[in-house]
Amino acid sequence: MRLNRAHIRDLARQRIERLFAFANQAVKSDPGLANRYVELALRISMRTRVRIPRELKRSVCRECKAYLYPGITSRVRVRAKRSPHVSVTCLNCGAVRRYLLDRD
Ligand SMILES: [Zn+2]
Repeated sequence: MRLNRAHIRDLARQRIERLFAFANQAVKSDPGLANRYVELALRISMRTRVRIPRELKRSVCRECKAYLYPGITSRVRVRAKRSPHVSVTCLNCGAVRRYLLDRD
């Protein structure tokens, strides 16, 4: 069977989702292993040019690529100052990401 590009990207998408699911399971007992899964997912994403869904992308530190899990590898706070936002701090490298809360 011939593997065309669409098929390859479809496989990549499935594999990326599975790697993130693995990371999610591994993070509590072995954050290093979770980071490894994320690293593989990012590599597949780049090689096949498959985008990582927004929710999953937010679970990766932009700076050090660690898998972020609230309470374990990241600190999540809701802040009311300035425009209301959620701040996510990577406990591995200390990088902070802010996500605005849209009011509706
Ligand atoms: Zn980090």
